[in-house]
Amino acid sequence: MQGSDFIKIAVIGAGASGIMSAIFSKTENTEVFLFDGNEKIGKKIYISGKGRCNITNSKEIYEFFDEINSNKNFLYSSLYSYTNEDILKFFNDNGLETKVERGGRVFPLSDKSNDVNKALEKALNSKGVNIILNTEIEDVKLVGEKFKLVCNKDYGLFDKVVFATGGKSYPFTGSRGKGHEILKRLGHTITDLKAGLVGIDVKEKVRKYSGVSLKFVDFKIYNTNHKLIHSEFGELLFTHTGFSGPIVLKSSKYFDNSKDSIVSIDLKPKINHHTLDQRLLREFDQNKNKCLKNVLSNVLIGAMVELVLEKSAVNGEISVNQLSKDDRKKLVETIKNLEFNFNSLRPLSEAIITIGGVSVKEVNSSTMESKLIKNLYIVGELLDVDANTGGYNLTIAFSTGHLAGVSCIEGE
Ligand SMILES: Cc1cc2nc3c(=O)[nH]c(=O)nc-3n(C[C@H](O)[C@H](O)[C@H](O)COP(=O)(O)OP(=O)(O)OC[C@H]3O[C@@H](n4cnc5c(N)ncnc54)[C@H](O)[C@@H]3O)c2cc1C
Repeated sequence: MQGSDFIKIAVIGAGASGIMSAIFSKTENTEVFLFDGNEKIGKKIYISGKGRCNITNSKEIYEFFDEINSNKNFLYSSLYSYTNEDILKFFNDNGLETKVERGGRVFPLSDKSNDVNKALEKALNSKGVNIILNTEIEDVKLVGEKFKLVCNKDYGLFDKVVFATGGKSYPFTGSRGKGHEILKRLGHTITDLKAGLVGIDVKEKVRKYSGVSLKFVDFKIYNTNHKLIHSEFGELLFTHTGFSGPIVLKSSKYFDNSKDSIVSIDLKPKINHHTLDQRLLREFDQNKNKCLKNVLSNVLIGAMVELVLEKSAVNGEISVNQLSKDDRKKLVETIKNLEFNFNSLRPLSEAIITIGGVSVKEVNSSTMESKLIKNLYIVGELLDVDANTGGYNLTIAFSTGHLAGVSCIEGE
């Protein structure tokens, strides 16, 4: 089928970004090979959004830039040339029905991430992309102006190559940093790689609260001079060694492993100290002879009663009428300010996203082509870009992948 007029394109990595590059670079004049080391496409998509895949967000596209943490200017061309609406149209056209949930997060109607992969696979097949699985690309060599892929078989020379090898988190999905290594050898700069959207460990022992989820709390980060660094309201999860959950993941960028900081959880953020004190007084008045810890469970969930008593060093076994005013104040203070000492971020392997990657200074934001090597394109999480949770990271992958795909065939 291949004549000499064909442009031969290799896309390395069949994740969200690479799949889009492959689909949009395939025309009747191109032959596209999509390589992945895995036995199937979209392994990270499969585990994304807790198996439901938060594909994109329904916000206006200009609002996406408030959610991007690194190098947002670099993403203007890609996000505006292939918006969240384009992404949704693409998926709907390929048989995926979607729904919008809280915060504008878009999911498949079926709640199954695998249906996202099925839609992508359908598009790849209908375009006629060659999907080459179980094939790890070990290296890419420049041969004149063409590219040779070093892997388990000889695929000949390629006119264009798209790097879509992802970041370095959740390595079992295939993103282990091989793309970074190859591009570094080819002269690209890789900025420091750090864990993004990740849980934290604290110095205190919290194991016995592991699994406890708190829905409407304030999570505050202070430096050692007690200056407030960041505050986030929402859902938090106790882990074996610290905290995770949406507000912790979102706040993780404000921690630095080399710096001490203090985290404080306000269990009753909607009411001030005085109102909380009045609330406790009312409860205590109505239950004078009852055991303090039982009465507190009218105000707090069970596990938090234990933690608040432990932290405030107030004896929960006494009856309410034995409680001193000072101890009541201590309870109020502790409920409003449960303090822990930050120890470290969880490792990159557990992070939702990799912060850092190929320096965007070396990539043309209007095409995704390398500024150092002609006909080489770099997309997705492999780049030094990252965003908050809410469907923004997949949007970056889809949009940058699309832009590289169409750029590969521009003018052909
Ligand atoms: C647990 C979890 C949940 C997430 N949930 C969401 C969510 O709901 N919404 C959202 O927007 N974002 C989410 N993200 C982030 C999002 O999934 C990623 O940012 C996005 O998938 C990145 O796509 P990518 O194509 O750049 O890289 P990847 O999806 O990592 O794909 C890279 C591919 O390249 C392949 N590869 C790597 N090196 C080679 C090589 N040398 N040779 C051949 N193949 C290679 C890998 O096998 C892999 O398939 C989540 C991430 C995680 C870890």
